[in-house]
Formats: sequence, structure tokens, C-alpha cells
Amino acid sequence: MEERAFKALGDMPPEEFRRVGHQLVDWIADFFAHLDDIPVLPAVRPGDIRRQLPDRPPDKGEDFAQILKDVDHIIMPGMTHWNHPTFLAYFSITGSGPGVLGELLSAAFNINAMLWKTCPSATELEQQVLDWLRQMLGLPETLWGIVYDTASVSSLHAIAAAREQLMDLQIRQKGMAGRPELPRLRLYMSEQAHSSIEKAAITLGIGLEGVRKIPVDEAFRMRPDALKQAIEADRRNGWKPFCVVATVGTTSTTSIDPVPEIAAICQQENLWLHVDAAYGGAAAIVPEMRHVLAGCEQADSLVVNPHKWLFVPIDFSAFYTRKPDVLKRAFSLVPEYLKTPEDQEVENLMDYGIQLGRRFRALKFWFVVRYFGVEGMVERIRNHLQMARTFQQWVEDHPDLELMAPVPFSTICFRAHPRGLEDEHQLEQLNQQLLERINNTRKVFLSHTRLRDRLVLRLAIGNLRTRPDHLQLTRDIIQQQLDAFRKSGA
Ligand SMILES: *Cc1c(COP(=O)(O)O)cnc(C)c1O
Repeated sequence: MEERAFKALGDMPPEEFRRVGHQLVDWIADFFAHLDDIPVLPAVRPGDIRRQLPDRPPDKGEDFAQILKDVDHIIMPGMTHWNHPTFLAYFSITGSGPGVLGELLSAAFNINAMLWKTCPSATELEQQVLDWLRQMLGLPETLWGIVYDTASVSSLHAIAAAREQLMDLQIRQKGMAGRPELPRLRLYMSEQAHSSIEKAAITLGIGLEGVRKIPVDEAFRMRPDALKQAIEADRRNGWKPFCVVATVGTTSTTSIDPVPEIAAICQQENLWLHVDAAYGGAAAIVPEMRHVLAGCEQADSLVVNPHKWLFVPIDFSAFYTRKPDVLKRAFSLVPEYLKTPEDQEVENLMDYGIQLGRRFRALKFWFVVRYFGVEGMVERIRNHLQMARTFQQWVEDHPDLELMAPVPFSTICFRAHPRGLEDEHQLEQLNQQLLERINNTRKVFLSHTRLRDRLVLRLAIGNLRTRPDHLQLTRDIIQQQLDAFRKSGA
């Protein structure tokens, strides 16, 4: 091919990449610098963004400057800013500067780490940073780690391994359908566990009826006595118990299931114990919080999401198991074209899950830990816990607010409960409107949950840009809205 024609068909020339790349990095730096000045929530209706986009893709290439302009004019107005310091809904997260740069470099390399051979650095860095994280969490060396995209997928793999451990049932080979000789499998979780566990049960053929929800105590923790009774009753009735999922930091209230007692039951009953510590696990890097993972050294598997509370951009879910051989037995299937001469010496990460291809996610984690240092990360988490204490105290001291759950981490569940108003129906409506009005300011974003059939507001602190003045602003906004209610006589 002629050189000129080849040039016309190649990638963006390096000099142009350098120029527009600098522009984009400047854009991102300005974005981070001025997040405080823009609303956390957009003012758009469904369809508003799509309406502004052309029906057809462009026939001719466009100037990069034009594309960036449309980011400002079309995309930005429809953004819910998860990196915003007053994003306090769901679990607040941060894509930190070093994490964003890690994503950039990872995209530039564009490797696929399905095998050790297809990118030795990616496999080995992943193994090493997961061992670093294990040490940071105070977990034993017997745990082997791998990165998946989300906690949902990590837990799916845990439950698949638990099912594989029932070797005599030969489910990998024969499946589960049309086998009347197969006992029905039962999985246990608390009624406060995350919906991803039930989704895993749906995916793996356990079915929703195969999930038994164990009642919780007054602090929303799984009751071990009820677990024990449920297992015994199920065995009497012909079910085959195979797995228990305990949660450290449930999604509604961040309650901590009593893992040591649950682990003892799993040991006696010979059940796989998976711990979902997607959010709460991160706190264990703080020495005085390490107790939240007590008992987890006995778990068969555990998931922690550094993309939730360790400043790594989504997605990055760290999965640990002390039985990688069982996980491998569940998933390894190697076609001829994926065999390599090193297979006996190395771990090929495709053998430990459903996906073949995998991104170079370890790079961003490596950047984050090296840039902040373990001490820097501990200080930041500690600071979030401190800010949560302050907010909790404000709620507890406030005559018109009510704390609705204990606060083991940095998430506060509360509701408006003005003096003298005891009608639950009215309280429901009041809190519904309060949440709407707070979020309609677009200055802070809170979310909600339901506890003992009561609507509860949820405020989660986990963004490294959130400072005490942001929480002061949040308190002021809540107070203003409460005052507005009082005036309107509602
Ligand atoms: C957030 C959360 C999940 C789901 O996390 P994804 O990574 O989005 O799948 C699961 N379990 C708990 C306890 C969570 O808080």
C-alpha cells in the first residue's frame, strides 16, 4: 500500500493525540477543581439527552474539538456526578486522580489478560496488588485473590464454587434440569442481604425458592440461632443446604452479620461460607476497624469492592477464596487455541471464571495505593468515619429527626419525625416529600431504603472530596426543608 493511503487509514496521529490528550487532561483537571460549583444532580427529563443526539452516525470524521464541545453541551447537563463531594446517595464513591490516570494507561495498553502469556505484567500485577490488599485488610495468607468487575459477579462465582464443591452431584457435567434424583439446593442469607445473591441463585439454577432468608436481630444482623434452625429444618425436609452468605456492611443499614458464629455453624454443617463485604470490608484497612472482618479468616470466600470505598474508579471488585482449586474446577475449560507452554507454571486467570477476556484493572489499583500510600488511605477512611459520627450526633440531638439504625461505618439511616407527629402514614408522606425536596435542590443527593416498613433516608460518606463543610451544607439544606414543612403546616 502506498504510504499516503496508509496514513489516511491509520489511527489518530501521535502528535494530534498529544495535543487533544493534553486538552482532555486539562478538561478533567478543571472538572475536578470545580466540582463544588456544579450541581450533583442534573435537571433533565427522560429523553432529553437522546433527543440532542443525531439519528444517524456521522459519515465523515469530525474534529476532536467539536466532540469535546458536545461533552460540555450535551453530556454534562445529563450527568449525575458520582465524583461530587455532596453525592451522598447509595454508597458514595470516588474515582481518584491516580485511579483515573491508571484507567487511561490501561486503555492505552488495551491488553487482554485471559492468559499469563497474553500479558504477564497484567496477571502478575493483579496477583501482587490483591495480596497487598489482603495484607491491608488483615486477612490470612491462605486467601487467593482475583479481580472481577463487580461484587455481583464475585458473589456469583462464590456460589458457583460452593455448588461445585458438591462433587457427587456432578452438576458441572450433567446440569440440574430433568434430574429427579437431585436434591433441591438451599442457600442462606439474611433478609438484609444484597439482591445480587438472589440474582446469582437465579443464574445458577438454584432458583429464588432455593434462597432462604434468615431473620435479623434489632440491629439488622443475621440471627445465628435462626440460621441453625433453618438448616436443621431444611435437612429434615429433604433440602440440601450448601452455602451461607454473610454480609459485612449490608446495603440498607451497613449492619454486620456475626461472622464468627455463622462460620462455626458452616463448619459444623459443612457449608460454604461466602462473605459479602463489598462496601464494609474497606473499613478494615483502618486498624481500629479491623474487627469488622472478625471470623472472615474462616470464610471460604469473600468479596471487597475497592471501587466502592477505596478510591479506585469503577469497576474493580476483589474476590478472595481459600479454595481456588474448587473455583478452577467449576470454570476451567481450555480449548486447543488457548494452550500455552507455560500452563504448568503459571495461573491463567481465564480458568477462574466465566469471562475469557479481562482488562488490566490492577494498574489503577496499583497507582492508587502507591500514590496515597497505605497510611494515606487509612487516614482518609478514618476521616469519613469521623464525619459520619458528627452527622449521626447531629441527627440524634435534633428534636425533629430520628436515627433509624446503628452506624457501624459511614452510612447514616434517619428520618424526619417531628415532635407530636406519630401517624405512620403521615410520616411516610413527610419523608417522601422531604427526600424529594432535598434532591430537587440538586445541591446534595441522598437516597432511601425501607426498614421495618418505614421509609428511611440514607446518607453515605465515602468520597475523598467530601469535607466537613459539605456535610454542614447538607445539614443546612435538610434544616431548610424541615422549616419549610413547618411553615406550610404540612
Ligand atoms: C454494592 C453492593 C453489592 C453490589 O455491588 P456491585 O459491585 O455493584 O455488583 C453487593 N453487596 C453489597 C453488600 C453491596 O453493598
